[in-house]
Amino acid sequence: MRIDIITILPKLLEGPFNDSILLRAQKKGLVELNIHNLRDYATSKHKNVDDYAFGGGAGMVMMIEPVFNILNHLKKATTYDDVIYMSPDGEMLNQKIANSLSLKENLIILCGHYKGIDERIREHLITREISIGNYVLSGGELPAAVLCDSIIRLLPGVLNDEMSALEDSFQDDLIAPPVYTRPSDFNGWKVPDILLSGDTAKVEQWKLDRAIERTKERRPDLQN
Ligand code: SAH
Repeated sequence: MRIDIITILPKLLEGPFNDSILLRAQKKGLVELNIHNLRDYATSKHKNVDDYAFGGGAGMVMMIEPVFNILNHLKKATTYDDVIYMSPDGEMLNQKIANSLSLKENLIILCGHYKGIDERIREHLITREISIGNYVLSGGELPAAVLCDSIIRLLPGVLNDEMSALEDSFQDDLIAPPVYTRPSDFNGWKVPDILLSGDTAKVEQWKLDRAIERTKERRPDLQN
């Protein structure tokens, strides 16, 4: 899979992709991540990427031209499944969306800033808009990193077996059961006996029961 991220703040994206699972996925060649500085595609003398909003109001708006230029440039070499704009009013990211995007070959993600992007970019160039929650962040970089993480960890070969993504919360409309590690007794705080029993069938049943119980308690909405 290939993901191209367009941003005016490439440095903000260096951290999330240069450690742990996301770094390993790139090193193994399971995902190719390209981070592009939108400013490199600005044509004005001062390399502007934003301008005042028509009709007034506080805050700058990201201009069409640099976005149009970089999309043209990228699309010349690659066919993309989706051009995604991270936006607080987009469809809310969930496990289903992450699962379906993880099956795509090539994605572009555009990070907005300021007041957002010129509406005509959304009308004509964007194919999908995704929000990571009902709150407003300063830019699309952290949302893009969240989206990429949710997708990349699902690619075959990225996680090893013991971290299997299929056992995570939301994959089966259940949240994950509680987990424990050594010591089995910490100052009287004990791990449930069943987990130490070695009886795999009983352990699996216990995990399922706890998952169902937790989902009922914490996220009854998932069962609807
Ligand atoms: N004025 C806009 C918010 C702009 S925030 C509004 O009221 O809807 C600046 C940029 O941050 C957006 O263009 C978007 O790319 C990103 N962003 C902010 N919050 C986000 C969220 N919850 N999900 C995804 N992207 C978000």
